[in-house]
Amino acid sequence: MVIPKFLADCMLGKLARWLRILGYDTKYLRYLDDAKIIALARFEHRILLTKDRDLAKRAPDVAYLIFSSRVEEQVQEVINAFRLTCLTHLTRCPHCNELLFDLPPEEAKKEIPLFVSLTFSQFKKCPKCHRIYWPGTHWQKIIRTFPSS
Ligand SMILES: [Zn+2]
Repeated sequence: MVIPKFLADCMLGKLARWLRILGYDTKYLRYLDDAKIIALARFEHRILLTKDRDLAKRAPDVAYLIFSSRVEEQVQEVINAFRLTCLTHLTRCPHCNELLFDLPPEEAKKEIPLFVSLTFSQFKKCPKCHRIYWPGTHWQKIIRTFPSS
């Protein structure tokens, strides 16, 4: 199975975050003109998610037109169109699209609130923005929202 990768256009920043939370490699670039964004999608074999009808028409080979303007519905559109499931228990930083690494609890302890280190034993960290994630932060909510079926 080929796991799809995405490129979100400038209007779809929130959608990009959600796709990352689901575990999908999603690039989001704010300032890129149409020609460049299409070229990038083709070069990196990414599905270009856009709300711009003209842009979608110019690149029917890579573009996927998003209809809804509500992020929850946008996520659902993409899930349905590409039959996505929640890949994993948070592998990718929702903010930077970087892959998270496992942070040993003794390392995490130095950087997180005490009650968190007493409650949880599994932590992940983003190599780029250094945010730390644990099951209480996003995981449960996310898994509730997107059952992996
Ligand atoms: Zn990050």
